[in-house]
Amino acid sequence: MELRKDPITRSWVMTGDDPTISGPRPEGPCHFCPDAPDATQVISAIPATGGWSARSMVHPAPLYHIEGEPGRRGDGIYDRMSSVGAHEVLVENPRHDRQLWSASDDEIGQFLRLAAERIMDLKRDPRIKYVSVYKDYGSNAGQEFSHPSSQVTATTFVPRRVLYELRAGREYFVQKERCVFCDILTQEERQASRVIEARGDYVALGPYAPRVPYETWILPRNHEASFERTGLSKPGLRTNLAALLRRTLQRVRTVTESFHLVLHTSPNSLHPSKTLGYWKTIDDDYHWHIEIMPVIATKARSYTFKEVYYSPVSSETAVKQLREAKIDG
Ligand SMILES: [Zn+2]
Ligand SMILES: [Zn+2]
Ligand SMILES: [Zn+2]
Repeated sequence: MELRKDPITRSWVMTGDDPTISGPRPEGPCHFCPDAPDATQVISAIPATGGWSARSMVHPAPLYHIEGEPGRRGDGIYDRMSSVGAHEVLVENPRHDRQLWSASDDEIGQFLRLAAERIMDLKRDPRIKYVSVYKDYGSNAGQEFSHPSSQVTATTFVPRRVLYELRAGREYFVQKERCVFCDILTQEERQASRVIEARGDYVALGPYAPRVPYETWILPRNHEASFERTGLSKPGLRTNLAALLRRTLQRVRTVTESFHLVLHTSPNSLHPSKTLGYWKTIDDDYHWHIEIMPVIATKARSYTFKEVYYSPVSSETAVKQLREAKIDG
């Protein structure tokens, strides 16, 4: 597999002929339970000694490999590079049956702290431009492992959606000298029709223009570009954010089982990009957040799919339903 850049949209895609693409993955014993027989290498654990609550492990079939150089090169008008980076599994809980929406706030807090530590550590590598943390849950969302887990990839490029956000955030800041995410939060908290829940310094809301029904974002109320900085310095992350994440996932699960969750944080500012220049104002114009994209079967509108997002439940209706959903507390 290699990375190729679309010369028009400037997005990187991973492509190649993967022989494992067809056929179901063999369902063996869990790799991630404590004392799993064929466990991959443990990278770090929280707490570091004694019984662990969350830990990161090498992905058993990694998409990115740590050895070598990206070897970015031209191919006529095209650009390509090899898939250098890192791919880890964040085991959220030692217990095989304890997902984020049923774990304790302390356990979720430990997992969030581990995610922050892994991002911080991977950003020390100057080859790495971006670290993604994401979770795909449910058969319709491409869930890979049954054990409660998220994944981390460290890449030599910034993923497309984040790049759009960075460019848009910078343009907004150039015009208004304000963070677009802070402005969204101010207006949403004033209007209140799309706020699902606020907890301490964190807010869960339905975006004004959702890409899918029940799309939900969680943001810190106070401006902060990098999740990992918040995660390692502010104790509220481990209490208020943990509780808000758990409660929001419980709400989403009243609508559908499957979802994608992704953390958007600032790119690696150790890695200077002359063409983008985003590292100069990044602390002012970017604002970390979590995006949850529920996966629900909707009426086919296939020709508009991914060209124009078609979201047949309004954010206001979705938020009202999620707000009123019966959750465990
Ligand atoms: Zn397990
Ligand atoms: Zn902001
Ligand atoms: Zn985002």
